[in-house]
Amino acid sequence: MELSNYQNTNTYHNATHAADVLQATSFFLNSETVAQMVQDNHATAALIAATVHDLDHPGRGNAFLINTRQRLALLYNDQSVLENHHVALAFQLTLAQNGINIFAKMQREEFIQMRQSIIDMVLATDMSRHFEYLTKFQQVIPNLPDLDENRESNSMTVCRMMIKCADIANPTREWKLCAQWARRIVEEYFFQTAEEREKGLPLTMKGFERETCNVPMTQCTFVDMFAREAFTLWCDFAEIPQLLNQLETNYEKWKSMSTNWEPSQNVDLMISKPA
Ligand code: AMP
Ligand code: ZN
Repeated sequence: MELSNYQNTNTYHNATHAADVLQATSFFLNSETVAQMVQDNHATAALIAATVHDLDHPGRGNAFLINTRQRLALLYNDQSVLENHHVALAFQLTLAQNGINIFAKMQREEFIQMRQSIIDMVLATDMSRHFEYLTKFQQVIPNLPDLDENRESNSMTVCRMMIKCADIANPTREWKLCAQWARRIVEEYFFQTAEEREKGLPLTMKGFERETCNVPMTQCTFVDMFAREAFTLWCDFAEIPQLLNQLETNYEKWKSMSTNWEPSQNVDLMISKPA
């Protein structure tokens, strides 16, 4: 992967986000419980998947691409459009030249399995299927100590949950980073909403308008709807309670900031810094 295959004009979906998700994945793999359940080949696949999982992200979401009938939406029949693109491009790039083919030394069967696992994990980052993956993980946890039965499929279930959590781990980062990632994603959504307004398209991310948005409130909503439940399950499993504590500390900060947030603070979130 070249850095240039991530679009550095995106405030959020750029190479730094990929590096952030890679770091989180690597951190999770260091947990003893995770290491015990995840097969070595799946751990390698997870690190590669994290690295490429948003490759060439255009800074617009799936719903936007579908509504505007873009080439990628037509190519992937409106199904996990971006996630399909990220992983397809990753393989196209690495297989294009012998010198950069990171799989060159693998046997055919080994490559097929590795490829399947990477595709599976990148597709798992589609947030429209978030609760499906959470439910599956919850169902599998009680059976995990039973190592021999379904070892492979359990390992993959853990990996899907792991990459999903790594992908949305920004609200569990120390406050300074948490606040910066929030400003980055919201700023990216502001541009998307502005384009939708300008072109008379449906608004795909309601509440993300520069003129009215309460940024701290968007973060409380994201935690309430997605992050808290995922990290409650994951932190318990991976025995990393400190992440959940940090999530709650950050949540309280956002909550207190939300009461006196003014939309005038949204003029340029990349330079204004909420305390
Ligand atoms: P991805 O696009 O692969 O990074 O998927 C993660 C998705 O989770 C993002 O596209 C956002 O929709 C959402 N997300 C992650 N972090 C935040 C955040 N701090 N606030 C709001 N949405 C977020
Ligand atoms: Zn991502």
